[in-house]
Amino acid sequence: MIKKIDHIAIAVKNLNEEVARYRDVLGLEFLGTETVPEQKVTAAFFRVGDVFIELLEPMSADSPISAFIEKKGGGLHHISLEVDDIKADIMRLQEKSVQMLDREPRQGAHNARIAFAHPKSFSGVLFELKQKGDAS
Ligand code: ZN
Repeated sequence: MIKKIDHIAIAVKNLNEEVARYRDVLGLEFLGTETVPEQKVTAAFFRVGDVFIELLEPMSADSPISAFIEKKGGGLHHISLEVDDIKADIMRLQEKSVQMLDREPRQGAHNARIAFAHPKSFSGVLFELKQKGDAS
C-alpha cells in the first residue's frame, strides 16, 4: 500500500553549489549527504515538513543520472512513494499492467529497498517505490 510521498529527487550537475542554494536561498533544513554506489550517485537530503528533497549528482559518466542530465540538463528526476510492503506493491502494479524497471527491490539510500516503475506507464513521470530500511 502507498502511504505517502517520501521524497522528490532532482538531478544536479554540481552538488555543492546546489546544496548551498537549497540551504541558503530556499532556507531548507540540510540533513547531509550520502554516496549510493549501487546507483552511482551522491545524494544530498533536505527536509520539507515530512517530505524530503533529494539532490542527486552523478558519481561517474556511466551513472543513470549522467545520462538524464545530458538529455534533459538536470531537473525533476523522480517522485518517491513510501510503501509498507514493496514486493506486494511491485506485484500489484504489474498485475495492473504497469511496466516495472525493477521487478525485484534493490538497495537505495539509507538502507531502504526501492523499485522504479517505467515512466511510460505514468505520462513520463518516474515513480520510485520505497520501503524504509532499519535506520531510516
Ligand atoms: Zn529516490
